[in-house]
Amino acid sequence: LSKRTETFTDSVIRRMTRVSLKYQAVNLSQGFPDWDPPAKLTARLAEIAAYGPHQYSITWGAQNFREALAKKQTHFTGLDIDPNTEIVTTCGGTEAMMTAVMSVTDPGDKVIVFSPFYENYGADAILCSAEPIYVSLTPPAYTFDAAELERAFQQHPKALILCNPSNPCGKVFTRDELQIIADLAEKYDTWVITDEVYEHIVYEPYENIYFATLPHMRERTISCGSLSKTYSITGWRLGYVIARPEVIEVARKVHDFLTVGAAAPLQEAAVTALSFDDSYYDWLKQHYTKKRELLLNGLREIGLPHTEPQGAYYVMVDISAFGFASDEEFCETLAEKVGVGAVPGSAFFHEDNNDYLRLHFAKNDDTLNEALTRLADIY
Ligand code: GLN
Repeated sequence: LSKRTETFTDSVIRRMTRVSLKYQAVNLSQGFPDWDPPAKLTARLAEIAAYGPHQYSITWGAQNFREALAKKQTHFTGLDIDPNTEIVTTCGGTEAMMTAVMSVTDPGDKVIVFSPFYENYGADAILCSAEPIYVSLTPPAYTFDAAELERAFQQHPKALILCNPSNPCGKVFTRDELQIIADLAEKYDTWVITDEVYEHIVYEPYENIYFATLPHMRERTISCGSLSKTYSITGWRLGYVIARPEVIEVARKVHDFLTVGAAAPLQEAAVTALSFDDSYYDWLKQHYTKKRELLLNGLREIGLPHTEPQGAYYVMVDISAFGFASDEEFCETLAEKVGVGAVPGSAFFHEDNNDYLRLHFAKNDDTLNEALTRLADIY
């Protein structure tokens, strides 16, 4: 069997969903909502079930899907995105990221990854026979050291992976931080691959800045996104890569041979969502702002130290005071004895760090309240 696959494990995030099921724990591990997608969207899907399309869309994504997506992203980024040359539709943000890394790396190339990081990035690099160079985002503020970042760039990486707003730490990179990355990317002629799946989940007063909108950065940015989080359709597996035509030409080839295409009926239905007006995104922000308050207030009352996420829907809880040797053991016990599913923080850190677990709050209030009631018995 492949030696390469020995250097990473299956996803701990997704494993913890199975552990939660085993113990019937409230699953705050793998981040996905337990509410329905917008009613207009599911109604449209029902129509499509009856009338189609049920066969392949063209490989790069259905024309009307790309047009609706280009319009939406042009609206939010202010960049004039061409649906015919600058987009490829993928099977979720997961395939978008894999396609992006495969499109720019050759075996032996290096890729900068901030740590803690969403666990797919490590495997993405390794599956491309590329080597991750990790740069710390140091808790509790999750800031990086510009000198350490420059040392990583001095190793001549092909790309830097930027998750913004950031999973798992909830960081929203400031313009100054993004400019430091941009300056280094320019100086060392490096691609920047962004994972922006939480683009619309940002809390006041923080603001999401799309990396491609920084001066001169559109040329070197490969923007990856997804409809999963924005429209509560994680199971539909719809994502995309947006970049300059030269890059998209390559990304389309990679995507073609990876998956041929994303599900045609779901792309067709999703056009409805991509055409929602601003009031939808305002609602989404308010919705998540309330969830965030609910969970953070609850954790505060219980006395569990935690991050104050600026964006995305995850909270890092400091468990160092419990004195467990391993956070994995802690999370297994938490699922079994307390009845709450969480992801051990070590799944995200390259550094040896057993001090945190990650909870997510994309859940109905009843689910969050039940989790908090159970967590109150943690001591
Ligand atoms: N991004 C989600 C999380 O971190 C999971 C996404 C996935 O499992 N594909 O929990």
